[in-house]
Amino acid sequence: FFIAFEGGDGAGKSTQVQAVAEWIRGKGHEVVVTREPGATAIGKRLRAILLDVASAGLSDRAEALLYAADRAEHVHSVVRPALERGAVVISDRYIDSSVAYQGAGRDLSPTEIARISRWATDGLVPHLTVLLDVSPETARERFTEAPDRLESEPAEFHQRVRTGFLTLAAADPARYLVVDAGQEPEAVTTVVRHRLDQMLP
Ligand code: C5P
Repeated sequence: FFIAFEGGDGAGKSTQVQAVAEWIRGKGHEVVVTREPGATAIGKRLRAILLDVASAGLSDRAEALLYAADRAEHVHSVVRPALERGAVVISDRYIDSSVAYQGAGRDLSPTEIARISRWATDGLVPHLTVLLDVSPETARERFTEAPDRLESEPAEFHQRVRTGFLTLAAADPARYLVVDAGQEPEAVTTVVRHRLDQMLP
């Protein structure tokens, strides 16, 4: 069973991923928590390139392909093997992040970005995608560390990313759970658990 958590920077994805993973482990499942970019050895090197402020000026298409390369490696060496042995996989970011950031955020076609990701993953789609939706203003208040290259993007960029995520979710309500991530973390976890209770034994 494959779950992806998506959302803008500062939406609280890593907190929710940990909380939900603990809860699923409590049901007796093996849970593999993973993330993009940077879950593999090659991915860590790609992540360093992608997030380095020194990569300012990286062209949009090259950026999109580096994210796709990270994802191909991730699916091949982490996600598929775990799913094949019956584990529940929870990924902090997946294809939708590319469609929202490299598609809606930059000026590339979201359809083409989705197609590249489909190829990179050989068509692996999550059973459930949880979109943690929060306004860029609220999210920014949560930053505690120095912003990475993307977090330094202007507010309009993050607004386009947010709209990009919401558009994806609206197009496929059966596969998405959109949660107001401006709420207290415990309240967000409760909403996610409620949905998963109906899907996981
Ligand atoms: O979620 P995490 O903080 O690990 O993401 C690292 C950075 O990469 C974030 O600033 C995020 O905005 C950016 N990112 C991106 N495109 C993706 C995935 C992540 O711009 N497809």
